[in-house]
Amino acid sequence: MKFEELNIITPIMKALKAEGYEAPTPIQERAIPAVLKGRDLLGCAQTGTGKTAAFSIPLLQILSRERINERAPRTIRALILAPTRELALQTGENLRAYGKYLGIKHTVIFGGVSQDAQTRAMKAGVDILVATPGRLLDLMGQGYVRLDHIKLLVLDEADRMLDMGFAHDMKRILAKLPAAKQTLLFSATMPPEMKAMAGAILSNPVKIEV
Ligand code: AMP
Repeated sequence: MKFEELNIITPIMKALKAEGYEAPTPIQERAIPAVLKGRDLLGCAQTGTGKTAAFSIPLLQILSRERINERAPRTIRALILAPTRELALQTGENLRAYGKYLGIKHTVIFGGVSQDAQTRAMKAGVDILVATPGRLLDLMGQGYVRLDHIKLLVLDEADRMLDMGFAHDMKRILAKLPAAKQTLLFSATMPPEMKAMAGAILSNPVKIEV
C-alpha cells in the first residue's frame, strides 16, 4: 500500500516524503483510516512498528482540519500520555517532523526538570500536549493546564504506565477529560489490568495487533 491511498493531506504527505518514508507500515495502514474516521483504537504494538506515526499522522490531520481560523486562541485539543520523558520527547519529535508544514503547535511536559519553560509554553497556547502523568497532574493542580477541550486522547505504552505505578494518576487525569472524545490506546501487552482499563475507556474500538 501507498501513503497516497490513505487520504493523507498534502502538507503531511510532503513531510513524510521529507522524512524519506516510502510506504506505511502495517499498523499505519490499518490505524490511519480508522482514526481519520473517528474510531477509538486498541493497538497492540511494540516500539519499532511505526506506532507513533500511526497515531500522530491522523491526529495532526484531524486537528488541522478543525483549525480554520489561524488567529483563534489555541486550546489543548489532543493529549498524548506517555510513561517516560524519553518516549514523550520522541513523540514530540515525530509531531514536529510530520507537522512541519502545518500550523499546529505541540509541547512536551515531563518531570525532573524545572517547570518554567513548560508553563511558558502552556501560556503561549498549544494544540497538542504530550505529557508524563506526574508532571501533568502537577501543572493541572497549579492551573496551568486545562483539559476540558480535549477531543483526542492517546495512551502510549499504556501497559508500561501501569507497570510503573501510574494507574491512579491515569485515572485522575482521565476523570478531568470530557466524556465525548476519541481515544487511542497502545500497549505492547494485554494483561488483565490493561484489558479492564481498555474496556472501561474505549468505545467499540478498532483492534489492531501487529
Ligand atoms: P516507532 O515504532 O513509532 O517508535 O517508530 C520506529 C521508527 O520507524 C522511527 O524511527 C520512525 O521514524 C520510523 N518510521 C515510522 N513509520 C515509518 C515509515 N512508514 N517508513 C519508514 N520509517 C518509518
